[in-house]
Amino acid sequence: MTESLHARHTAFQTWPITFNALVVEYTNRCNARCSMCYQYASPKGSEVSGRRTLRLGAIKKVIEGASELAPLTKHFLLTGGEPLLSLSRCVALFEHARHHGYPTISVTTNGFWGRDEEQAYTTVRAMRQAGLTHLDLSWDIWHLDYISPVAIDNVIAACHREGIAITLRVLTTQRHRIQEALGLLRYRSLTSVDQIKSGPVAKMGRATKLLPNRDFFSEQSAGDTCHARLQLTVNPKGNVSPCYCGSDQTQGLSFGNIYQDAIVDIYRRMNDSRLLRTLVFYGAGALVPLLREADIALGREDDNICKLCWRVFSDPHRSSALEHNFARRRSDDVKHLLSALGIQTIPIQEVKNETVPIHFRAHDNRTVVRR
Ligand code: SF4
Ligand code: SF4
Repeated sequence: MTESLHARHTAFQTWPITFNALVVEYTNRCNARCSMCYQYASPKGSEVSGRRTLRLGAIKKVIEGASELAPLTKHFLLTGGEPLLSLSRCVALFEHARHHGYPTISVTTNGFWGRDEEQAYTTVRAMRQAGLTHLDLSWDIWHLDYISPVAIDNVIAACHREGIAITLRVLTTQRHRIQEALGLLRYRSLTSVDQIKSGPVAKMGRATKLLPNRDFFSEQSAGDTCHARLQLTVNPKGNVSPCYCGSDQTQGLSFGNIYQDAIVDIYRRMNDSRLLRTLVFYGAGALVPLLREADIALGREDDNICKLCWRVFSDPHRSSALEHNFARRRSDDVKHLLSALGIQTIPIQEVKNETVPIHFRAHDNRTVVRR
């Protein structure tokens, strides 16, 4: 076994799944309808899954529950859609997160509320007083159809004055490079932000319909792993997934719903899932041969791990083939273990109690019953 494979195996066997943040996608409504939006967000909600907004009480419960989770870095990130369509609710959630001990509280926004300079200051001040520490500002050429560069300049100026750290997030394609988006902003704005982060538009969601194929950057990094960059993410339906890089838009990587289960129980389910552990410690590429066992070929595409992951888990047929594969492996493992212990399983004769007894036959023909 090579050193790197050995390290991955050790991580798979022993490490807890850790998360860099609790991310809550409060709503899939947005004032904009950007061509590259992976969530299909629009003023009427998601154009694919309909309009959804989480209940405030349910989010507060998640914030409380997640504050007890040791494998979670105490960073609360509120995002959407556009969460600042309701400032008062954002403020209530920031206050709640601060009260429950989250030292880092951030929001992702398109900055539409910065149209008026005074309103930008009032909004930032209200959020800072509620506990906000960081603001992620989405800005690129596709936002320009809905948001004016002046609004972005005003938001940056207000955050700078109020001491809120700003990350400017810029998406790019072959045709639309970072210089184009940054060139629309005031020079003073660019020198006031704390970070500028740029990444390629993901070939997911609305981008697959509205952007030409040749515009996407080609990436072949499906062998990478993602365990160091996960976020415990609640999507607008209440489904919980391991990140908001695409898995949040799939049913196949949902491990429970906050309206039915406590967040701590959903975390345990994730940590115990061999499928998820394989995905995050060995990488999405490790799933390809398992799908091949079920005669599912993914075809050749220039995928990075998240795109590959999304292609697998947004397809119910592929997801369920993987679930069956892992269920069979689990059952085979149990059989091997019992066989190594010299125990053969026999059919259960009768079940009298509520707790289902498990009957084993040992080497010496004694029947062992475990509850
Ligand atoms: S502003 Fe963000 S959430 Fe809204 S449509 Fe654009 S990319 Fe999607
Ligand atoms: S590979 Fe999947 S689970 Fe991992 S970060 Fe990407 S989308 Fe999320």
